Amino acid sequence: MSGRILVVDDVEENVKLLEAKLSSEYFEVISANDGRSTLQIAGTELPDVILLDVMMPRMDGLEVCRRLKANARTADIPVVMVTELSDVADRVRGLEAGADDFLTRPVNDIALFARVRSLVRLRRMMEELRVREETCRRFGDRGKPAAEDAGPARILIVDADDFTVGCMSAALSPIAGPVRHASSCLEAQSLLSSGTELVIASLSIPGSDALRLISQCRANEAFRRLPILLVAEERDLPRLAKGLDLGANDYLIRPVDRNELLARTTTQIRRKRLQDRLEESYRRSLDLALTDRLTGLYNRAYLDAHLDELVARTDGTGVAVLLFDIDHFKKVNDTYGHAAGDDVLKELAARTTGSVRSVDLVARWGGEEFVVVMPQTDLGIATAVAERLRTAVARETFTAAGGSAQLPVTISIGVTIASGPHDDPRQILQRADVALYAAKARGRNCVIVGQPPSPPRAAA
Ligand code: GH3
Ligand code: MG
Ligand code: MG
Repeated sequence: MSGRILVVDDVEENVKLLEAKLSSEYFEVISANDGRSTLQIAGTELPDVILLDVMMPRMDGLEVCRRLKANARTADIPVVMVTELSDVADRVRGLEAGADDFLTRPVNDIALFARVRSLVRLRRMMEELRVREETCRRFGDRGKPAAEDAGPARILIVDADDFTVGCMSAALSPIAGPVRHASSCLEAQSLLSSGTELVIASLSIPGSDALRLISQCRANEAFRRLPILLVAEERDLPRLAKGLDLGANDYLIRPVDRNELLARTTTQIRRKRLQDRLEESYRRSLDLALTDRLTGLYNRAYLDAHLDELVARTDGTGVAVLLFDIDHFKKVNDTYGHAAGDDVLKELAARTTGSVRSVDLVARWGGEEFVVVMPQTDLGIATAVAERLRTAVARETFTAAGGSAQLPVTISIGVTIASGPHDDPRQILQRADVALYAAKARGRNCVIVGQPPSPPRAAA
């Protein structure tokens, strides 16, 4: 994943150095050398991440950061403050000014790439979320977008030293609930649950392998996207690099600075929660796009895709299709009103779903026309199912208008099967439609079979 990074520093050599490092990892770099031009470039270029020097003449980095975060157009762009190693107070002021992260000079490559990548990812996710929520709205979703989860973070610390765990828990108390604690990676695995939002794991527990924990999490669907923050000794840099390769999201070097711990944890938790919202909105937009709002059945778009796939996969063998339509439905609407008509459609959907197998797909094809697609079904069985469905509808009246009306309803059904791999799904539906039309012509409340064409003979 590459991204566009805005590097801000009043010292030209510092810009050049970061530019060279980032370009070597295929990031696109733009630069600015004072506060005013930073605000202007950020607003027009909308970079993915801003690396911002604290010490600049006229407007310092803290003020620039405050203004970026106060402007709706630039507020979402992650800002990394670049500070001197010695100046711990600067980091705290940076975080207070709204910075998302910080790097200390001299900037080390592992830190630079870990942080920039993690923040680019965060930024992309936020953009994606906005797009998805907009799409949902355009699809007519009036539901509120899922609110950002602001509850206490659910964190698991993996460390053998109780004192360290105590200090970390205290430092995390502004954002975390009661922190869970495992003394080894093995114990961590048994404590991981679907509610865990972040693992903070020591890389140096004797006899316990954090790298294995990372790779096991990444191989397990349930924890694939669980953020992992590593805590390492300075001398452990090679293993740390390996851990980041295996999928750890970020790291801290001992002795752990509590502000840094809090900042990194906050970023990871935010990312996790954004990701969860994104998945939720993805599921919702799928539902909206592929199901019918009135009946909850699949819609025509989904049916078309499903039938194409089924015919292609099975070589068209054993795919049966029923197409049915309510008889004289206009009369229902005219006599009892449109709402009563809707009640009938809903109940018909429920009766249909109840009288087919779970592998069969029921879709609303149009106004009061429905389709059932049945895999592994021959024409004889499909006709029997159609007959059973017709009876299930005609046998009992439908309740409508809040129970005040009992309506007799019947349906006419066309049945057919795919004739083989060459059969086009559109032709199959067309055949069922012709059979349905014939059923209407025969007097309604009946089933008519549309015979599939014989498969073409193999060339001699
Ligand atoms: P036929 O037996 O020939 O099918 O007669 P019909 O009256 O059912 O005729 P047709 O299929 O042409 O009429 C369909 C009617 O279904 C017309 C339309 O108002 C109604 N309809 C379509 N969608 C809906 C819906 O979502 N709700 C309600 N209440 N009615 C619908
Ligand atoms: Mg009809
Ligand atoms: Mg119709």
